[in-house]
Amino acid sequence: MFENPSGPWALIVHGGAKEMGPGEEDANRQGVLEALAEGRKILERGGTAVDAVEASIRKLEDLPIFNAGHGSSLNEEGEVEMCSGMMDGRDLSVGAVGAIKGVRNPVSVARAMLGEKETLIVGEGARTFARNKNLPLVNNDALITELRESELAEHDTVGAVALDKGGNIAAGTSTGGLTGAHVGRIGDSPVPGCGFYADNHVGAVAFSGDGETIQRLALAGRVMAALDRGEHPEQAVAKAVAMLPGTGGADADGGGIAISKDGRVGWAHNSPDFAVAMITSDMNEPKAWLGKKEEKNG
Ligand code: ASP
Repeated sequence: MFENPSGPWALIVHGGAKEMGPGEEDANRQGVLEALAEGRKILERGGTAVDAVEASIRKLEDLPIFNAGHGSSLNEEGEVEMCSGMMDGRDLSVGAVGAIKGVRNPVSVARAMLGEKETLIVGEGARTFARNKNLPLVNNDALITELRESELAEHDTVGAVALDKGGNIAAGTSTGGLTGAHVGRIGDSPVPGCGFYADNHVGAVAFSGDGETIQRLALAGRVMAALDRGEHPEQAVAKAVAMLPGTGGADADGGGIAISKDGRVGWAHNSPDFAVAMITSDMNEPKAWLGKKEEKNG
């Protein structure tokens, strides 16, 4: 039951900090809008932020244009290994999976982990957990697309953050990780305080980008501290991504989305592109951009 069932609500999703290949713009724009629509339906009818985040990310995982679920990047052995994290701002519960193979929707495994004492499980154990929860398993090779087999280096986690009508906040991420990474490598995406965080009393954030640098900076924690000080989500994320090159080198880039407890939303990136879609209870229509350049040009 919601205490405040008619409060403001908001949802923002992203398709990863990356450089889009030629001709990929429409699929990215369409994809983030489709993902947004899944979560929006849930929030409009009074559903929870956790449900909305999961639904939006499931859609992003199913679309091969994004590096998550079907269409994940391949590691050094040419295999898919995926990571996903979810956080429920009501009670600070975290559910995450790392280097998981052979599941259709890693975010739903992370979601199922929200009910467990453990916060993060990896590898074969994570797949066994998914099987025990009756979540759909697939042959790992079925997650590989031609696009990923042909690419050299890419990174682009997907993510979503939401505020529901009851004032509850959630965040989620999902990724195929970095192309050519060591087997078993885990980046920031399933690590709370690094790739994501959510707290009803503050707000939520989800990142994509150079996972090692995001971890070293505990980037989501920094954004949460800024939101707690009352900074606008846009400014908080912009300052956070601007720190990446200083620690990770000139190539360290990323992008993030954030929401404050009062429903303000913001996003920023220093990667070439960053597809974002958002809708709030104050907006009639959703908006989507492929990056800040496009937003600035109207
Ligand atoms: N942050 C992800 C990772 O390091 C990759 C990405 O977002 O591009 O696994």
